[in-house]
Amino acid sequence: MPSIQFLKGVGPKKAELFGRLGIETLDDLLFYFPRSWEDRRLPGKREPLPFLKDAPLIRGRIKRVRDLYTSSRLRIFKVVVETPSGEAEASFFKRHNPRFDVFAPLREDLKEGRTVWITGVPEDPLFLSRLRADEYYPDDDARALQIHIGRIVPVYPLTEGLAAKFMREAVYEAVLAGAEAVGDFLPPELAAKRGLSARGAAARAIHFPENNFELVQARRRFIYEELLLLALAWAIKRRQTRSVLKGFTYEIKKNLLTPFREHLGFSLTAAQAHAINEIFADMRAPTPMARLLEGDVGSGKTVVALSAMLLAAENGGQSVFAAPTEILAEQHFLTFEKFLKGLGVRFALLTGRLKAAEKKKVLDDLAAGKIDILIGTHAVISEGVKFANLRLVVVDEQHRFGVRQRAALRAKGDKADMLIMTATPIPRTLFLALYGDLDLSVIKEMPPGRKPIKTTEATEDIAFLAAADEAARGRQVYIVYPVIEETQAADMRSVKAEFERLKAFFKGRRVDMLHGRMPGELKKRVMEDFAAGRTDVLVATQVIEVGIDVANATLMIINNAERFGLASLHQLRGRVGRGRWDSRCMLVAHARGGDSGDRLRAMVQSSNGFELSEKDIYIRGAGEILGVRQHGDMDFKLADMSRDKELLELAIEDRELVLAADPELLKKENAGLRRRLRDLYAARWNLIDLS
Ligand code: ADP
Ligand code: MG
Repeated sequence: MPSIQFLKGVGPKKAELFGRLGIETLDDLLFYFPRSWEDRRLPGKREPLPFLKDAPLIRGRIKRVRDLYTSSRLRIFKVVVETPSGEAEASFFKRHNPRFDVFAPLREDLKEGRTVWITGVPEDPLFLSRLRADEYYPDDDARALQIHIGRIVPVYPLTEGLAAKFMREAVYEAVLAGAEAVGDFLPPELAAKRGLSARGAAARAIHFPENNFELVQARRRFIYEELLLLALAWAIKRRQTRSVLKGFTYEIKKNLLTPFREHLGFSLTAAQAHAINEIFADMRAPTPMARLLEGDVGSGKTVVALSAMLLAAENGGQSVFAAPTEILAEQHFLTFEKFLKGLGVRFALLTGRLKAAEKKKVLDDLAAGKIDILIGTHAVISEGVKFANLRLVVVDEQHRFGVRQRAALRAKGDKADMLIMTATPIPRTLFLALYGDLDLSVIKEMPPGRKPIKTTEATEDIAFLAAADEAARGRQVYIVYPVIEETQAADMRSVKAEFERLKAFFKGRRVDMLHGRMPGELKKRVMEDFAAGRTDVLVATQVIEVGIDVANATLMIINNAERFGLASLHQLRGRVGRGRWDSRCMLVAHARGGDSGDRLRAMVQSSNGFELSEKDIYIRGAGEILGVRQHGDMDFKLADMSRDKELLELAIEDRELVLAADPELLKKENAGLRRRLRDLYAARWNLIDLS
């Protein structure tokens, strides 16, 4: 592949800058896609598109120019231009240099009487005819008219030292040199059916489209391509998971399961029992389980997971239970202590906080098979921790992780069963795209006797009085703030500052503080004190969002509620209402704006996570909720799964057709697809196995 240095104007220095953007070859440059596009056609020739920005632009005959000094440092070169809609003015700013005339080139190029194009930023948003100038081009510059002006122009992510104009020129050369030779890898039949443009044509048009239609088509082509590859990868992963033989069988012995259920102190809901049955059937099957367990906050997913781990333990297998934060892992450890008491099950906690000697002991025991259940953060799975006989991997609160982490985790599944849990329900199309390799169990019902949590919007004063009331009755309270320390944002409250104030306010009560930047030992102690009822009021950040389970806590106060997403608000609210007392959630907003009103209203109206998630997807778009915000996360260059829903549906439909006709992608017309999948999802992500 020819190096970028073969390009005109690119020496070793520039090549290094390109390298910073991940561009090493001409091909890399050709497939370095624009972040957005700018419409630099004459205003009368423009047609709007959602992703096409209107560029402020002047074109006309120069009437006069003026050279001004504002101060000893700054010089301004003003150009007055006659345009069809009247006079317009562009100003160039440059720092004065006593040794040479900084405006000499401008004076040469921008002579009175010439026709020019000038781009820039309006000095005042109301007067588009007065620009702070940026680029200028003479009207008779044929090359500029091909690349920079009078057309739709690509906008690239840049790096210091690589200017937009230079980048456009470089990509233009790369397009001339390489676009035509770009081969297609989609089966022609598929491309024809979906009306997709050829890859070579799209590779040109994605940078330099001649018109809106070409741009729309080029984007469509590449977005579809990215989504189809991902959809195929999950399907292949799914088949590969299910074609492995575990090589052992489970027997439901009940020597652990029965006493476990008897000691629970409650009976399982029908929904929990159903999920457990599905999981057990998977575990007893000859091929590994890959299942997602969806259930609202507080629906009781933990005991379902525990049942699965006990089945593994009964059969001599080890399990690992991974949580997204250390605090949550520690909480789970306490829960396990409660539920597994007297069963003789050996379980241990492994987090970054353990001292070296403690850690070594856990690792040795694990490798020697002396631990049945290991609880920890995700590091437990990724850090080369050695198990004697790992049979079951449980991942809690999966929605907190990016797709890439998910893929990394899934790649480790080999022969072990895998159970993934989430409180965020996912629309079907997205489920297929994000978790296409998993089976689904849903817990639709809450444990009986749950009191609804009364949610209101409140002022700070009312909320704190309510907190004092709860504490007086022997109940406990969470008070949440969005940040640890004070920031520039005047309307944002912080844990540290408010903690001092609240200690004074709740005189005579024990007030404690919890946030992610405290030393591990301290965090643990604070959590233990709260769980044991020694603390009345816990002032915390969002660290307590997931999993924390303290039945005596009955009031959740969320400050700056306008700053939290709906999913987070719902998770936070789920920390109360876990015991036999009436519980409340009070939302204290310190500012308004954006869609915060919608979110708070939705919270007051609904306590159902599934309902809220639907609203959330409506308010915010699915991408953000499911952790697929950034293209980078997915290695997507253009696709956005929440925005490109229609294409995602087509891609999933087409994946089914392709694989039905050719499950191994061995037919000639699918060779290209196979190659792309191998490069991306086998070689780079290590998600699937394709040779
Ligand atoms: P989540 O699904 O959010 O992880 P948990 O597993 O933490 O929920 O369960 C929430 C609380 O409900 C815990 O205190 C748990 O012991 C309790 N619980 C779970 N199942 C039942 C049940 N069937 N009946 C009563 N309480 C239950
Ligand atoms: Mg949970």
